[in-house]
Amino acid sequence: MKTIYLDNNATTQTAPEILEEIVPYFHEEYGNPSSAYSFGGRVASKIKKAREQVAAFLGAEPEEIVFTSCGTESDNTAVLSALATRNDKRHIVTSRVEHPAIRSLCAHLERKGRRVTEIPVDGEGHLDMERYRRSLTPDTALATLMWANNETGVLFPVEEAARMAREKGILFHTDAVQAVGKIPVRLKDSAIDMLSLSGHKLHAPKGVGVLYVRKGTKFSPFMIGGHQERGRRGGTENTPGIIGLGMACDLAAAKMNEENARVSALRDKLEDGLTRSVPNCRVNGDRASRLPNTSNISFEFVEGEAILLMMDEFGICASSGSACTSGSLQPSHVLRAMGVPFTMAHGSIRFSLSIHNTEEEIDFVLDKVPHIIGRLREMSPFWNAGRRTCAAS
Ligand code: PLP
Repeated sequence: MKTIYLDNNATTQTAPEILEEIVPYFHEEYGNPSSAYSFGGRVASKIKKAREQVAAFLGAEPEEIVFTSCGTESDNTAVLSALATRNDKRHIVTSRVEHPAIRSLCAHLERKGRRVTEIPVDGEGHLDMERYRRSLTPDTALATLMWANNETGVLFPVEEAARMAREKGILFHTDAVQAVGKIPVRLKDSAIDMLSLSGHKLHAPKGVGVLYVRKGTKFSPFMIGGHQERGRRGGTENTPGIIGLGMACDLAAAKMNEENARVSALRDKLEDGLTRSVPNCRVNGDRASRLPNTSNISFEFVEGEAILLMMDEFGICASSGSACTSGSLQPSHVLRAMGVPFTMAHGSIRFSLSIHNTEEEIDFVLDKVPHIIGRLREMSPFWNAGRRTCAAS
């Protein structure tokens, strides 16, 4: 059975040309880039090139690029560094819809005595900018906001938010893990002090990420060890991953405009087709201001997990906003923050496309999913009774 992979916000396929390029760095050019001999030096020069490629893609300087192991590490490093270098300040401003890489860390820091303000979003997923502005106080060490939401794709105006923070002397970090590679990012003239990205979201391998740190920003490392990354991140470099990420940035830069138009047309076809053929469903998040590849659709009175299982029978991969924890299905914190009703939030599916998806795949999904929803609803007492589940919730 063919796999129809529509879960590219979870991870992407490593581009074949990247894979081909990096394989020799596992078994031929496997030297340690810190070694003095040329067997290591050759690898070091590849890392230098990758740093330049990433910097060029972000509109940044190579010295501003710190290679890490993933988006989570970059996010954690940014937040902890801001707190360590502004130790007299206790307050962090963030949003209610961040990825757990920020949200769980902030909850942890709150338990340790820091103050955290989570800015709400409206029904379309937009940040309340007035609340954000008012929440920036002299005690605020850092504002951290995601650029693009991983569940809905909705974009936050991070450049404006960064300017507002800078005016008050507050550091600004953005979790751009879903944005980089999908929309243009240019840091040079922005007020963004730190930015996180993750290789495996843009067709590089897993196990590599970047933290951009603007020149002049005080920094405190998270991984303390060797002198790698100019003392900003100890640990022997993931050479193949870093080389792959440099290439992924070049590939994304070359194809972004053309591919975005194609991918968003496929996404819109999928969305329009499903909303036309399935009653009681809706698209979550502002359709105009979001990533070109992401669609979050709620199907009322069915469980997202059940939809995923039935799609899996046809080889269709997507993800649901619900997390199955200890027998109870918790709807996504993002959809709850947007005020999506429980009966809708429980049946939400995130489809996230990539440059590898085709029109035939979308046609296949449009053929199967309406039947899947129909079958599940036939089994649903709530659908049959025409009333709401979880009304009390
Ligand atoms: N931030 C966002 C918005 C994400 O979507 C993800 C992963 O899904 C992460 C952070 C974490 O990235 P990683 O898996 O590289 O740790």
